[in-house]
Amino acid sequence: MEFDYVIVGAGSAGCVLANRLSENGRYRVLLLEAGPRDRYPWLHIPIGYAKTMFHPKYNWRYYTEPDPGMNGRSIYWPRGKVLGGSSAINGLIYVRGQPEDYEHWAALGNSGWSWQEVLPYFIRAERNERGQDHFHGASGPQGVSDVGDPNTLARAFIDACVEAGYPANPDFNGESQEGAGPYQLITWRGRRCSSATGYLKPAKGRANLFIETDAHVCRVGFAGRRAESVVFRQGGQEKTVTARREVVLSAGALQSPQVLQLSGIGDADLLKRYGINVMLDRPSVGQNLQDHLQVRVIHQCNQPLTVNDDMRSLWRKMRMGMQYVFQRSGPMAVGINQAGAFLRTRSELDRPDIQFHFAALSADLPGAPLHDFPGFTASVCQLRPTSRGHLSIKSADPMARPEIHPGYLSTEHDRRTVVDALRVARRIAEKPALSQYIETEYLPGEQAQSDEALLEFARDTGVTIFHPSGTCRMGSDEEAVVDSALKVRGVSGLRVVDCSIMPTLVSGNTHAPAVMIAEKASDLILAEAKSLTGHTA
Ligand SMILES: Cc1cc2nc3c(=O)[nH]c(=O)nc-3n(C[C@H](O)[C@H](O)[C@H](O)COP(=O)(O)OP(=O)(O)OC[C@H]3O[C@@H](n4cnc5c(N)ncnc54)[C@H](O)[C@@H]3O)c2cc1C
Repeated sequence: MEFDYVIVGAGSAGCVLANRLSENGRYRVLLLEAGPRDRYPWLHIPIGYAKTMFHPKYNWRYYTEPDPGMNGRSIYWPRGKVLGGSSAINGLIYVRGQPEDYEHWAALGNSGWSWQEVLPYFIRAERNERGQDHFHGASGPQGVSDVGDPNTLARAFIDACVEAGYPANPDFNGESQEGAGPYQLITWRGRRCSSATGYLKPAKGRANLFIETDAHVCRVGFAGRRAESVVFRQGGQEKTVTARREVVLSAGALQSPQVLQLSGIGDADLLKRYGINVMLDRPSVGQNLQDHLQVRVIHQCNQPLTVNDDMRSLWRKMRMGMQYVFQRSGPMAVGINQAGAFLRTRSELDRPDIQFHFAALSADLPGAPLHDFPGFTASVCQLRPTSRGHLSIKSADPMARPEIHPGYLSTEHDRRTVVDALRVARRIAEKPALSQYIETEYLPGEQAQSDEALLEFARDTGVTIFHPSGTCRMGSDEEAVVDSALKVRGVSGLRVVDCSIMPTLVSGNTHAPAVMIAEKASDLILAEAKSLTGHTA
């Protein structure tokens, strides 16, 4: 029961660490995951997204507290609970963010995190089917593929953006993110390439890598101020393992802070309220919560070109199944969102501040049953919200859910941006390339014209686009939770490596950045081991 490294959580980041830290064969590495193995077939078929969105076995299925910015609604926050974590159930989009995001992290005092310093880790991770170039890798564990045969409406959306004056962009992860184009996906040969598939599968035969599933971590144990053990529950039993070198928390932006608080690191008053011994009074644990709020503009289509139509027709469903089984292609091979755009709401801005996800389908909520009319959705989110939320434990019971306050639309800047974003969505839909397919605007609906009405629409219908981050903020100031080596400040032998360390949310989807963070962390950890022992890492 002794290991060199104990990693908590086998998600986008945790699987990367498990692979890299066990690669040289020198260290005994234990990976603890609360969820089960990823044997369910729909976890691997791209369109299976809808099947796992509410699945009780593979999804934590969190709800936020009623949020004032959302007119008091609780918002559904799915999170992966399985090998692969959220990368096993996510929408597959491969986006890294903007170089300025990482320049900003570095400017905040986080040395080593500038764009030029993180780009090599994105490249090292990537196996892009387009091949290698200055921005892309072709031999890493993370498969990245094109949407082979995009839906007619996805192409029409891109053309409409161009008609509206925005540039076309075939590669959001290349020279510039700005413009409209097709997304690349974390798929390989028509199958999802989660971090479990890309990183864990090739490593799991190693004699020095141990993977425990259905192992719910309760807390980290300390000897003085040094993290030295991890306590977890498995099969109704409480078990303790020892970490000779380090414990690494990769439980995600909702649960890494939860495990810290359960281990006595957090706001002292909060911990005392629940009878938890205070190891370190650090009120910033669980603060700085940031997320992308998506607001969905839905149009009724005048032709049966949508996935809504595919799913109503037995013949089309059979054709989709055959295409997938025999050619690994067709709608089942490419998830939900096929096209997107990174645009500026105002021309005087120096970089895109909103992102579109375009899907040739429509439903009342992501993952809910599709509408019984032909419909398509242009979902839009603000890339760098200034609103901040927070989360905390609400019980000393490690199995209890954290209390999540997203704080959506709590700043005037964000309220302004969401209204502007909805107006951009309408401007694109008016262009001939897309308007030729429109019967009517279903949501927000033509009655919603004033700024007030559009804001109210956002408050009434906005939902997460699933990117919570920032709750164990990296920084060089006294309040930061981790330093730029991702070590928890004030104790030793403990790091956090996942989306929670982001000081500010990146301008895009968060899986690729989580993988990059873990790739970089693995180098930091191995370099430190090397300097301590003199071994080659
Ligand atoms: C529905 C959905 C759609 C998304 N779509 C996209 C997309 O298209 N593109 C994109 O880039 N991003 C997308 N994201 C976001 C992206 O997948 C996440 O930001 C990313 O996977 C987070 O990585 P992580 O390593 O921080 O956490 P996770 O991948 O969530 O991993 C955390 C892991 O820790 C485990 N865990 C938690 N608590 C404990 C505990 N106490 N003990 C043991 N194990 C524990 C969890 O079960 C999980 O496996 C989406 C997310 C969701 C949920």
